[in-house]
Amino acid sequence: MSNIVKDLNSTKIEEFAAQLRGQITLPGEANYDEARKVYNGMINKRPGMLVKCVDVADVIHSVNFGRENNLLVAVRGGGHNGGGLGICDDGMVIDLSGIKFIRVDVASKTVRVGGGNVWGEVDHATHPFGLAVPAGIISTTGVGGLTLGGGVGHLSRKYGLTIDNLLEADMVLADGSFVTVNENQNSDLFWAIRGGGGNYGIVTSFKFQAHNVKTVFGGPTLWPIEKTEEIMEWYHDFIHNSPDDLNGFVATMIIPGPPFPEHLHNKQFCAIVWCYVGDLDKASEVFAPILAKNPLFAHVGEMPYPAIQTLFDGLLPPGMQWYWRADFFNELGAELRSQHLKFGSSIPTPLSQMHMYPISGAASRVGETETPWAYRNANYAGVIVGVDPNPSNAEKITKWCKDYWEALHPYSSGGAYSNFMMDDEGQDRVKASYKHNYDRLVEIKKKYDPNNFFRVNQNIKP
Ligand SMILES: Cc1cc2nc3c(=O)[nH]c(=O)nc-3n(C[C@H](O)[C@H](O)[C@H](O)COP(=O)(O)OP(=O)(O)OC[C@H]3O[C@@H](n4cnc5c(N)ncnc54)[C@H](O)[C@@H]3O)c2cc1C
Repeated sequence: MSNIVKDLNSTKIEEFAAQLRGQITLPGEANYDEARKVYNGMINKRPGMLVKCVDVADVIHSVNFGRENNLLVAVRGGGHNGGGLGICDDGMVIDLSGIKFIRVDVASKTVRVGGGNVWGEVDHATHPFGLAVPAGIISTTGVGGLTLGGGVGHLSRKYGLTIDNLLEADMVLADGSFVTVNENQNSDLFWAIRGGGGNYGIVTSFKFQAHNVKTVFGGPTLWPIEKTEEIMEWYHDFIHNSPDDLNGFVATMIIPGPPFPEHLHNKQFCAIVWCYVGDLDKASEVFAPILAKNPLFAHVGEMPYPAIQTLFDGLLPPGMQWYWRADFFNELGAELRSQHLKFGSSIPTPLSQMHMYPISGAASRVGETETPWAYRNANYAGVIVGVDPNPSNAEKITKWCKDYWEALHPYSSGGAYSNFMMDDEGQDRVKASYKHNYDRLVEIKKKYDPNNFFRVNQNIKP
């Protein structure tokens, strides 16, 4: 059993605070409610203490304080986790949002990033050099959580998952020690953090390989929801046979309002969001077969990479209710497509949606044991999200999401991408998601965190 912060005497807390350059926030203080907010408004946890770290020393002191006082500890990067794994009740939150720095090394095309940065900050820093690090599709997501879970996004087919571009990390471990991990140093840990989440320690700095990506050609194409089965059948063949330069994820969604034209508002669609990073002179040729499918609406064109990364930020501000369910899929067969049509036609609120991200191209050429990310051979990482600003709709979006998932799950490959899972899915789901890599993850956990100090995550039990 963990102790809870409120049982610690105040001298102990004062002594700890005196060691820090960062800030402690306790219940009852003016900024407590602001500090404990995470992206998902459905999460309402009340930690006993939040520690906003500003450097590695703060992280070491916090880990030691948490361990010596037997506290439950959550680690917060960008705070985006659907299940709210960046926060906990009663225990201590080690908040990394004060550890932000980015240094682009133009000669080696590598980027050093702080453990508390978010992806929009990285894109902003790399773009003037014509470089980008593969990440997700929303710029407010944390570098920490997204990377440690895998990282699927617009550049996955061309340059692999985010973990495939991780070269090195600095970490504070459960015993308070500080290590650097890469292919040559602590290589077992380096393997484990490329998908194994926050189970192994706190990453204070990441080093990524960046790539020449400046202007992309992309955007959404929409078809009436009635065409879902036809479009998904065509899409499956098309995307996996396209050059790696082209990425596109397929979705069922409602167009909620501006910036889309009014005639589309509040209608359901089968959508594909494209991102092409090849020779721009060939873009119209690449997009010709897509436009030949006669989308009702196509808003594709050249844009700076940070623009595609922020395309949906405005629609999805923090604080809304989110409920997630996910699975990997190999196929998009007829039965599955008919379920997408059925549930895509009954999306309960304008922002609720389903996405299937293609896992092909470079992301699929990494071996299934090279990183913990076990589903390199699945064709899709699928996710269903019930989203709405109004808490009174929480039940409605949760039910739709679960029902949709239940209908798809029999056709899935078994596990899910850990970053798309909630916090209540159980150990069997975690095991299924790491498949043949789970046992090795357990061995490394036993070596570096035998007491499961880092357990507010998709937990690998030692
Ligand atoms: C709107 C939205 C869009 C998304 N889009 C994508 C997408 O396109 N592609 C994709 O792959 N995922 C996507 N995700 C999922 C996202 O990858 C996960 O939610 C991820 O956990 C978020 O990371 P975070 O640092 O913001 O979260 P947090 O809630 O801060 O942390 C999540 C987990 O990571 C751990 N953690 C975070 N930082 C560190 C660190 N530096 N060291 C050690 N542990 C750490 C935490 O302890 C916790 O267990 C999206 C999520 C949202 C809400």
